[in-house]
Order: sequence, then C-alpha cells, then structure tokens
Amino acid sequence: MIKTLGYAAYKAKEALAPFTFERRDPRDHDVVIDIQYCGICHSDVHQARDEWGGSLFPMVPGHEIAGIVTRVGPAVTKYKVGDRVGVGCFVDSCRECDYCKQGLEQFCIQGMTGTYNAMERDGRTLSQGGYSTTIVVDENYVLRIPDTLSLDAAAPLLCAGITLYSPLAHWKAGPGKKVAIIGLGGLGHMGVKLAHAMGADVTVLSQSLRKEADGRRLGADHFYATSDEATFTKLAGTFDLIINTVSAPIDWNAYLSLLKVDGALVVVGVPEEQVPVGAFSLIMGRRSLAGSLIGGIQETQEMLDFCAKHNITSDIETIAINQVNEAYDRVVASDVRYRFVIDMASLKTPEAGF
Ligand code: NAP
Ligand code: ZN
Ligand code: ZN
Repeated sequence: MIKTLGYAAYKAKEALAPFTFERRDPRDHDVVIDIQYCGICHSDVHQARDEWGGSLFPMVPGHEIAGIVTRVGPAVTKYKVGDRVGVGCFVDSCRECDYCKQGLEQFCIQGMTGTYNAMERDGRTLSQGGYSTTIVVDENYVLRIPDTLSLDAAAPLLCAGITLYSPLAHWKAGPGKKVAIIGLGGLGHMGVKLAHAMGADVTVLSQSLRKEADGRRLGADHFYATSDEATFTKLAGTFDLIINTVSAPIDWNAYLSLLKVDGALVVVGVPEEQVPVGAFSLIMGRRSLAGSLIGGIQETQEMLDFCAKHNITSDIETIAINQVNEAYDRVVASDVRYRFVIDMASLKTPEAGF
C-alpha cells in the first residue's frame, strides 16, 4: 500500500484537518500519480459540508487534479513515468453500459465512481480525492495535460473547464450565437474563455458590475448586473444559450425570459433548493430548461487539447494546504479570482501540521 498524506473533512461542517491514509498498490492498468496541484471546486465545499446529503466521511475532497506519473502497472499502455496528467470528477464506471461505451461515463447506468465521496467498485473502499500527495487511477480514467499548459492553472480545467465546455459544445456555441453565462466564479470564468474561443458573442450576467473589467479581459463582449431590474427588460429574448453556474437559488422564470425562441437555459450550478419554473416561461418561445454534468473522458481530453490550441487555462490563486478552510469561506462569499489551487508540496512542510 502507498502511504498518502491529505486533508480531510472528518465530519460535515467541521474544518478540514490533516489525514493519513493508504492508496492501493497499482493494479495491471493503474497509474500512480504524484499530485502537484488540486483546484478547489464549489462542489468540494457542498460535499464536505454535506449540503447535498449522504456525504461519506472522512472525506478528502478534490477533483481538479494535476500531477506527474511516478509508476505504472504492468499492462499500462497509455502513460509512462514522467507524463503530465490530470484526473477529474470520476475514476471509474461500469465500462459496459451504452453510455460508458459512447464515452458518456458521467451518465453510467450503474453510476460513475466519484473521485471522492463515493465507494469504489469493490463496494467497500471509500474513494479519496486530490487534496493529497498521491492518487492511483486506472489509465482509462486519466487525462493527458498538454505540455504548453502549466499544471497549476490547468488543474481547474478537469472540472470547471469540462463542465462548461461540454454544454457549450453540445448546444453549439460558436459564431453567430449569443451565449450568456450566469455567475463569474470558477465555472463561469472558464465559460467566458471557452465560449469566446469558440467564437460566440458572450455576455456575463453577474450580481453586480464589480467584476466587469475582469469579465471583459476574460473575453466577454457584454457585462450586466442582475441586481439591476433594467437588465431583464433590456435583454428579453436575446440569447440562444444561457448557462447558469450559480450555486444559490435564482429567479428561473426571469432568466428564461432572456432566451430567444428555441433557446436553452442549461443548469450546471447546484443549489440546495428545488428549481421552480412556470409553464409559460417554457411554452412561450419553445424554450428548454436543461442540465449538464461535467463530461466524459474523451470529451475532457478534447477540451484539454482545445485549451492548448487556444492557450486557455484558469485564472488561479495558489494557496498552501493549511489555508484550505479560509479558502472555502472565500469561495462561499464569491471572493475568489477565479479559482483556488492548492500547491500539494505544502502538504510535506511542517506547517501542514502532520
Ligand atoms: P463559485 O466559484 O462559487 O462561483 C459561483 C458564482 O455564482 C459566484 O462567483 C457568483 O458570481 C455567483 N453567485 C454566488 N452566489 C450567488 C447568489 N446568491 N446569487 C446569484 N449569484 C451568485 O462556484 P463554482 O465552483 O463555479 O461552482 C458553481 C456551482 O456549480 C456549484 O453549485 C457547484 O457545485 C456546481 N458544479 C456543477 C458541476 C456540473 O457538472 N454540473 C460541476 C462542477 C460544479 P457573480 O459574483 O458573478 O455573481
Ligand atoms: Zn467540481
Ligand atoms: Zn456504465
């Protein structure tokens, strides 16, 4: 077994603290990864604080993992020692159902195996995520990080990047399309960069105009404050596609009214509350309300290669592991520009507190 250092939530709503555990020795198709960086996704906060229910503890969060391969199992063909790799939100799936076969592993009929807060397919090992020194993952669930992308700023692509890339690609964001992104946070800022690179006309719908200069620098053509009611009058019937990244309740009917005929409002943010929608908001204009969940392995690799081609990474604030609890509070307060990334070298320093 491989001794691993990490930070875990031992219980819901408790501060994360040092945690020592073991990873399995590599099986035939496993890759051992020395984790160098891991992004902090708002989903880490939701799960560590058990805001979605059913959280499994102790929990080492983290599914925006970037590192270097240090060992491979005897049958591994895709990766070798020294490769720059990433791991996203899941580390396994059934591999047999229609969705797994189509590369839509995130919709596996038996359920994907989450990178953390899940049971591995043996039914008894708790999966543990990227706020740790090492991870062992089957090569088929590992991504290649292109050489031109720096590992720290590429880490958030593994969740925030693919979560926006997948719906933008699915709903065909591109030249001639008007796309709006609600919420300029970790997911939202990636949405702006990606939609801009795809050639769409991009609007940010943020709570205030505080982030306007950033939004325009990231590639937004327009920027509006949703706290201003005039925004909703002015933009009525404007967008082909709106992606909602907000992790709090919003006025769904008001946002649906901003869609053109046949437009789609796609939910990626996950508030605790249900989504109340009036029938008229949908039937007037044949509008769709849809959802999207991360992306499959093949599409995640496609996204990383797209990012390399367009020189896209995340705007990050790098922190040491012992700042993680403070970072969680800042994520909840929307006070991050635009993704925290933990430097895992900090886990091996005395300040980490082992
Ligand atoms: P984040 O960095 O906290 O960004 C969320 C943004 O939403 C904030 O920056 C803020 O933007 C806006 N916002 C926050 N509170 C708000 C409120 N009360 N009213 C209106 N807007 C508010 O979070 P994230 O990491 O991007 O994640 C966002 C959500 O997506 C989370 O719920 C997360 O669990 C979920 N998620 C889903 C998937 C998926 O596959 N579907 C994948 C990853 C994450 P402004 O300051 O610009 O208003
Ligand atoms: Zn995430
Ligand atoms: Zn499956």
